[in-house]
Parts: sequence; C-alpha cells; structure tokens
Amino acid sequence: MLARTSKNSINLLKTAQTAASRIEQRRWLNLQEYQSKELLQKYGCTVQKFFVTDSKKDAQEKIKKFDHKEYVVKAQILAGGRGKGKFPTGRSDITGVLITQKKDDAAGSIEYMVGHKLITKQTPPEGVLVSKVMVAESVQIGRETYLAILMDRDSNGPVIVASPAGGVDIEEVAEKSPHLIFKEPIDIDKGVTDEIALRLAEKLEFKGALKTKAAEEIKRLYKLFIAVDATQVEINPFVETTDNRVFCVDAKLNFDDSAAFRQKEIFAMDDHAEQDPRETEADKFGLNYIGLDGNIACLVNGAGLAMATMDIIKLNGGEPANFLDVGGSVTEAQVYEAFRIITSDKQVKALLVNIFGGIVNCATIANGLIAAFKRMELKVPLIVRLEGTNVDAAKKLLKESNLPILTASNLDDAAKKAVASIK
Ligand code: ADP
Ligand code: MG
Repeated sequence: MLARTSKNSINLLKTAQTAASRIEQRRWLNLQEYQSKELLQKYGCTVQKFFVTDSKKDAQEKIKKFDHKEYVVKAQILAGGRGKGKFPTGRSDITGVLITQKKDDAAGSIEYMVGHKLITKQTPPEGVLVSKVMVAESVQIGRETYLAILMDRDSNGPVIVASPAGGVDIEEVAEKSPHLIFKEPIDIDKGVTDEIALRLAEKLEFKGALKTKAAEEIKRLYKLFIAVDATQVEINPFVETTDNRVFCVDAKLNFDDSAAFRQKEIFAMDDHAEQDPRETEADKFGLNYIGLDGNIACLVNGAGLAMATMDIIKLNGGEPANFLDVGGSVTEAQVYEAFRIITSDKQVKALLVNIFGGIVNCATIANGLIAAFKRMELKVPLIVRLEGTNVDAAKKLLKESNLPILTASNLDDAAKKAVASIK
C-alpha cells in the first residue's frame, strides 16, 4: 500500500507506519486530494474552486461553466511529487500537475492522464494508474510554505511542523536545511491559541495582514484535524498569493483507524483503489493479511505467532509469501476465505498452517482445513501444525480425511517441512 502521507512528511509518523504497525492492522485511511479538500472546505479552510472528472468529454462539459483566468489540472493518486511526475504512456510533456490558461488544453490534457500510469518519486517504479483528475482554478503563487499537523508519539499529542521552505520535497529540506523546520507541540486541552498561531505564521515568514490570515487558517486546520480524528493534515504548499491571500494548494490527510466508528462518512470515502486487492478482500472477512514476496504462504492465528512463523520460515531458508493472522475466534468459513486469498497468489508453492488452539478449538480448524482443501482442490503441499485445545481429535480428523496433508509436531518441524516441500 502506498500513502501520499507516509513518504512525504517528516518522519514523525513514520515509525507508526512501519510494517510492524501495519501488522497491528493500522491501514491509515488515505484520501485523494480532492476528498481531502472537500473536508477542508467543510471546515472553512481556504482551497481553490475545483471539479473532479474522469474523462475529456465530461471535463469539456464541466469547464464550460467554470470560468477562471488560469486552470490547474491535477492527477489524483495517493502519492506526492506529481508536479515532477511522468506518464510513460501519456504525453511526454505532461506531468501530474498541468497549468494552462486555455479551457481546451485543460480538458484535453485529461486523456493523457486518465487511464495512464503516473510515476513519481513516491510511487512504486511502475507507477500508479490515474482514474480521476481534479481541475481547479489556478492561483498566482507568491510564496510556498509547508505546514503539517501530526499526531506525534514523542510528545504524546499533536505537533505542528512548519517551514518557510515549502512546495518542494520536505524531506530534502529536513536533510539539507534543518534550521528551516519548526516544530510546535500542541497541548491537546488548550488547542492552538492565537499566540501559537501567530508565532507559527511568523516562522512561516508571513508579513503584515497576511500573518493574521495565515494564523486564522492554521487555527481552522487544527479544528479540522481534531474534528475528523486525523493523524495527519499536511498542506504542501501552504501559499501566499500575489494578491495577498492564503491558500491550501495541496492537502494530504490521514486518519486514525480506531476512530472509524465515529467517522463513518469519512471512512466510507475510502475506495481501496490503490490497495492490494487481496488486502481489501481479506478485510471483508475480518482477516489481517499483508502480501509479501516469498513463496510459502502462512495461515496463523495471532499476530505474534504469525510473525514468529515468518521468522522461522526465513531461518530455515524459505521466504514467506504473506502475513496472515486469522484472529483468535476463527471460523470454518474464514479458513476457506483465507485459503482462497493466499492461494490466489501465483507465487505460492506451499502452504503452512500454524494454529495454537487457545480460544479456538483445533477440531474446528481441522474441519475448516479439510473442507477448504476439498472445495479448492488445493494444488500445493499443505503443512499443518496444530497445538492446544482438542488437538488429538483434530489430528485424527486430518488423518482420516486421507488428504495429502503433512502434519508437523512443532513450529520448527513445520517450517522445515514447508521449505523441503518446495525444494
Ligand atoms: P505534488 O505535491 O503531488 O507535486 P502539488 O499540488 O503540491 O502536487 O503541486 C505541485 C506544485 O505545482 C506546487 O508546489 C505548485 O508550485 C504548483 N501548483 C499546484 N497547484 C497550483 C495552482 N493552483 N496554481 C499555481 N501553481 C500550482
Ligand atoms: Mg504537494
């Protein structure tokens, strides 16, 4: 999964976004820029007028009533760096951000973006397919700054990161000129006071009346951050225009997945378009799945045991094809879905099941495995290690099924058998 936020913002959130935390099923809902901007508008923040489109024809229709001096057309993908991006199959002179004064060119550019893959510094090497484009009024940018509000582990609360050197890759600024990056921890009970907002506006080098405007904008962004349970609101660039206005020209929002229950409208906006389809499938059945590069698929209950299983496969010279935690109260139906999802990966050459029956009854798992095996006509070796409640009954069931299932007596034995089975 790629996240527009995870790569572009200063590392404050990065720790939380490592593989380990994804294993805690933190998927950090990402929204497209246009969706983020709709939220910004709702909270009174200043964004340019825009419409969203997915075809030249539709854009030609919509742009008729959209009168502005200049237009900016932006490919909607969950990765930044679009301004310097490339469409290898589109027109070579078009990047992910196009600025033009001609309505025809704005609408016409869409056919070179939609349906094409856009490659930026933050996308996988093959790029990301563009399916939607935003057409916005262009503003005359005088100066570009950087502003982000993050939930920060070090200060156990929100922190505002500000830099007068915005627009560009903020990680580069952090590396080359760290003195241009300011961090302001926010007391969550007090929020962003006038004093804090003005201090930040000053650090961002807004002058005169613009300083007050920027401070007000920062306060509105903070209100939004709290109200929507965001873990990150990143505005890059946060600009002043040549006619003395303050605009949020780009916006990336991330949300706390634990708040999904009270942010239903926002979470309903997640279209999963750029998520691994297997992960989306697994989500539907309450399975915690992450695809990896190896060829030994694993089905395990419990995140810790799943990680240990992956480790032990590696220790024995194998490569895990996935992380899959089926949870503590796994059902027969879930076992079937899990099998289906992991074996949809063509790389998978063996399947290792490692279940500790603490809450779950091993016999349930055995029945699930047998049913799934028969229904799927499994083509790869299946190695099973069961331990815990009702394990003897479970082993008996497996044996009497007469299916080619290899049983293992412990985790190491299971990993060895799995690795040997593909040699
Ligand atoms: P990304 O971060 O993916 O490259 P941005 O939205 O930040 O996309 O756009 C990249 C750059 O394009 C901005 O830093 C700015 O210089 C320019 N740009 C974007 N929108 C406008 C606009 N409305 N008017 C003028 N320039 C713009
Ligand atoms: Mg940007």
